[in-house]
Formats: sequence, structure tokens, C-alpha cells
Amino acid sequence: MKRRLVLLLIIITLLTACGKKKEDNKEEKKEFSASVVAKDKTVELNERVTNLTDVEVEKGKITSKKEEIDTSKIGEQKITITVEDDNGLTKEFTYTIKVVDKKPPVISFSKNLSTTVGTKINLMNGVSALDDSTEEIKVTIEGDYSFDKVGVYKLYYVASDSSGNESKEEFTLTVKEKPAPKPAPVKEVTPVPTPQDGTFTTSKGFHGETKNGITTIDGIIIANKTYSLPSSYAPGMNANVTAHANEMFAAAKEAGYTMWNQSGFRSYEKQKSLYNNYVNRSGKAAADTYSARPGHSEHQTGLAFDVCATNRPCINSNFDSTAEAAWLSENAYKYGFILRYPSGKSGITGYKYESWHFRYVGVDLATKLYNGGNWITLEEYFGITSEYNY
Ligand SMILES: [Zn+2]
Repeated sequence: MKRRLVLLLIIITLLTACGKKKEDNKEEKKEFSASVVAKDKTVELNERVTNLTDVEVEKGKITSKKEEIDTSKIGEQKITITVEDDNGLTKEFTYTIKVVDKKPPVISFSKNLSTTVGTKINLMNGVSALDDSTEEIKVTIEGDYSFDKVGVYKLYYVASDSSGNESKEEFTLTVKEKPAPKPAPVKEVTPVPTPQDGTFTTSKGFHGETKNGITTIDGIIIANKTYSLPSSYAPGMNANVTAHANEMFAAAKEAGYTMWNQSGFRSYEKQKSLYNNYVNRSGKAAADTYSARPGHSEHQTGLAFDVCATNRPCINSNFDSTAEAAWLSENAYKYGFILRYPSGKSGITGYKYESWHFRYVGVDLATKLYNGGNWITLEEYFGITSEYNY
């Protein structure tokens, strides 16, 4: 009897407690009057969002502090915010932010690769792929190719990240024919044809004469592409020319320039070896624009020389723009020298501009050819050609 009463009391107490709790809940729901929209969100890796981004509240206010969400890792995060309604009642709301990686990796690579047939190259050399995430991206090659077969192969680099985003970039692999072996060097050039002895009149009416294979016009020895010298002609450097050259160099020194004769008389044999070297290096056509065939060099006359100056480029086109070259062009005629291959006259002389090559012709003729600074060539003055006929 007593035990039953106790049991009953316990049941009543429990029921009462339950009822009260139900009532409490009812009251709370009734009283919290704010309307809150905080939906789950999906954002891109490293996108900037806060816990309050896109949360809407009516008839109340958010009391949570605004905080930046860490979106540097892929995954889901539960975000909880607190809202206070107009009556001062607070309530917590929870929603989910899902961080995803939707951007494909970026591949850096070179668009055109090439090799010669039979030579393998590493197609992955210098190739890399980057992504927003810190994960390493694997790159693979798509397409068929062979290093043993000449062709242009269209291939792809494919990179994919762990989220399944894929990048595909086209590149070409060119497998080229092996270069043809270099032609055997030209060992010899055609021997110089000996000019016929005799006299002639030039197109400008000057008297020309070829004697023992040496041609003079109005007393001036001519060695150009039309008129050659015999291989046996080897007078050495002319002493009179050297004396005039030294006078000129002394005057140059007074003007502040130190110059000298770097290359004067040159024998037929020496010229032959020089010219053949140039032909082997750059081919006959190119060599003919700057080097004379043996027998055609003015250096063989012993009347011409190449000038070099202290601290200046020696016997090359970089000398053209120097003060020394300008001084020579303006003063050489006073000592009987002419600028033999002036600028813009290669169609006439057969040679490129040589700001360093001077030829002795005597002061009278040199002054005429100087022409107030607008140099005339020997070919123009005498009315002769400078062209190989072989
Ligand atoms: Zn020269």
C-alpha cells in the first residue's frame, strides 16, 4: 500500500515536470519574434566570406561578431550566429559553409618543342601546374609521338587536381630531319686569269695599259675585281707610301689620335689563304663582298693598307663610327691617300664600306677624289668596272 503510493507520487511528479517543460518551450517559441535566413553556402577555395555574409534578419539584430571564415581548405564548416529579437530574446542559428575547388589548375609550358630525329628530349622539362589549393598537381601527356620519326606532333598537357578539375593545353613537338652534313670545304679557288697585255681607252677617255699582266690607268696601278695582278707580283710595301702614311699618322697624333698601318703589303699566296678561309667560313658569295680573290687584292700592290687606332675596333665595321675614321676621311687626301671603298659605293667598287682601308694615289688625284668630303671612287673617276668575269 505504501509502496503504491510512492510509485504514484513519482509518476505525478514526472508528469508535472513534463508538462511544465512543454509549457516553457511554447512560451519561448512564441516570444522570439525575429525572422532569420541563414542558408547553407558553397564557396570557392580562398573566397573571402564572413560568418555574416548573406545572413538576413528581420525584426531583430545579429549580436555575433563579424568574423572572417578560413576558406583555405576544402571541406565543410558549421557556422553559429546569435540573433536578438526586438524583445531582447536571443537565439542561436547554425548553417554550413562548404569550401570547394572549382577552378582548374593553370599549366605553364612552352608551346613549341623541337628536336632532331633520334634525339630524345624530356617533354616535362620546365612544365609545371599550379592550383589554388596547396596540393601538388600531376601533369600527364596525351597523344602519340615518336622521337624516331620526322613529323609535327600535336600533343596535350593534362593537369587535374584532387577535386577533379582538369586543364588541357595543346603543344607541338617537331621532330626534324637531321641537318645535312656540312659540304666539304672549298680547298682551292679558280686560278686568276692573266689579263691580256695591250692598251685600251676607258669609258671616261683615260689611257689604260696592261703590261706583264699589270694594268695601269693614267699611271695608276689598278687592282680590283676586273683588273688582277699576276701571282708573281710581289713588290712589298712601297717605301714612299710608308713615308706618306707616317706623315699622316704624325698629323693624326697632333689631333689626338694614335693610328698605325696594321696591314700593308700582302702576297698573292697570303691573300689566297685568307680568301679561302673566308669562303669556307661564309661561302663564296658572302666572301666576295669583303675579301678579294687572290690576284685582285689592292694590298698586293704595296700601295694600300688598313689603319688601326688605339682602343678602337680594328679592321671591322665598328671602326666606321669612330672619331678616328672621321678624321681619316677628312684628312687622308692631304697625304695622297684615298678612302678606297666609301660608304654607299659597294655597287661600284664591289666591296662593302671599309672606313679603314686607304690607297696611295698622290695628293693631286686624292684631292679630286676627296671631292670636298663626298668621296668619288677610282672606278667612277676613270670610268672602269670592278666585276669578276670568272
Ligand atoms: Zn684592306
